[in-house]
Amino acid sequence: MATVEEALEKLKKSDFRARFRLSEKDKKYIEEKGIDTIRLHAEDFIRTRLAPSRPENDGKQTPMRGHPVFVAQHACACCCRKCLSKWYKVPMNTPLSETQQQKIVNLLIAWIETQIKGDL
Ligand SMILES: [Zn+2]
Repeated sequence: MATVEEALEKLKKSDFRARFRLSEKDKKYIEEKGIDTIRLHAEDFIRTRLAPSRPENDGKQTPMRGHPVFVAQHACACCCRKCLSKWYKVPMNTPLSETQQQKIVNLLIAWIETQIKGDL
């Protein structure tokens, strides 16, 4: 996988990925919970929905809204194993390592932070 900065640059060039934005409701939720809690949620979602070798409903396991991390997952092409494979060459049918999971979470949190900063 690329560095967070490289990944964010590449994502900006995709019309589809670059279109995702956090809603006011998402931003309020992050403000209330704090970014550390959002990171814990991201770790949990990635571990349960993406890390197994064959995740349940792969390709449809990430809702389009309802949690800021879901939006970040679509914006960062970390929504399903097919997108991870296409964008980051992460092999399918293999569990994600702890390091891979952390890299994904770091990317998601970095994207969320750019969305919040873009507001100031
Ligand atoms: Zn996907």
